[in-house]
Amino acid sequence: MPRILITGGAGFLGSHLCDKFIAQGFEVIAMDNLITGNFKNIAHLTSNTNFSFFFHDVSKYIHITGKLDYILHFASPASPIDYLKIPIQTLKVGSLGTLNCLGLAKAKSARILVASTSEIYGDPLVHPQTENYWGNVNSVGPRGVYDEAKRFMEAITMAYHTFHGVETRIVRIFNTYGPRMRLNDGRALPAFIGQGLRNEPITVFGDGSQTRSFCYVDDLIEGIYRLLMSDYAQPVNIGNPHEITIKEFAEEVKSIMNLSNPIVYNPLPVDDPKQRQPDISLAKKILQWEPTIGRREGLEKTIEYFKTFSKEELYELHRTFI
Ligand code: NAD
Ligand code: UDP
Repeated sequence: MPRILITGGAGFLGSHLCDKFIAQGFEVIAMDNLITGNFKNIAHLTSNTNFSFFFHDVSKYIHITGKLDYILHFASPASPIDYLKIPIQTLKVGSLGTLNCLGLAKAKSARILVASTSEIYGDPLVHPQTENYWGNVNSVGPRGVYDEAKRFMEAITMAYHTFHGVETRIVRIFNTYGPRMRLNDGRALPAFIGQGLRNEPITVFGDGSQTRSFCYVDDLIEGIYRLLMSDYAQPVNIGNPHEITIKEFAEEVKSIMNLSNPIVYNPLPVDDPKQRQPDISLAKKILQWEPTIGRREGLEKTIEYFKTFSKEELYELHRTFI
């Protein structure tokens, strides 16, 4: 039975990856320090004998007994509100955490896939973003702690591949959404849905003309699985290329939830990228992958998930930040 370590396994994406690899017949070890994740995301797996959970900060030395065939390094705060609150931990998990994971991969002769991001393109001057675009990042701006950690992650991953012959994969993930996002993580979709359910105004930042391209989580997980199983070591964009302005996105959520809440316009965060859309030609070509779940279907599934929270939980979650 193949054995896989998933760092950040109790987070939004990490927990879906745990489900995927358990379903594919792997022994899964989830590792997490729960700084932005939630044990509830993986609680349903704990009775499975092929699943185990280690509470550990991956920025510190990682010790795993026995063999390891694969490592997925997904530990890192991912939402702007999170990484602005814990900037040093964010830099450490992208740098020291990645170094530890790569060292472990080398020691165990395991294949490793690291979670990079569309943020490495910064506020992009090339549109849509292809993998050979080098990006436009403000290293000392507020988002620099995340963007530069991920750029370092890519560089050291490639160095371990080139100099140590470690089998590495790099996925550049574009905005992804779905069940198990944290209602209060500050990202646009959980913010809009939470505001809808609490009957509050919908907060659009800036004039809402900035764009994003949102991918449903099941599509992303399939793309990551295919990349891990491929023999391609260069970075690959995985995301949904259907681009939308944030204002239109807020209107869409309102319409699906049947809301009459007003939209309020709050200041645009510093260095907020103006446009973002993945060019997924490479993923189509080498992984025969493209998203299959449209935004309406994905939004309906996500809204259903958030509707399962009780009123108390909706307000409690709203108050508690990391
Ligand atoms: P998340 O916050 O839900 O999950 C991250 C998980 O990592 C959490 O469970 C957190 O507790 C854990 N973690 C953080 N620091 C840790 C540390 N030092 N040691 C151990 N565990 C630690 O975020 P997510 O959306 O699931 O993102 C997962 C990964 O995917 C991140 O690396 C992120 O950069 C990347 N990514 C996500 C998106 C997206 O749209 N969700 C986009 C681009 C990249
Ligand atoms: N955004 C918004 N209102 C919110 C939260 C976010 O208008 O309550 C905007 C944010 O400024 C950005 C876009 O939505 O332009 C996507 O933000 P998110 O944090 O989800 O992802 P990222 O900026 O990392 O792509």
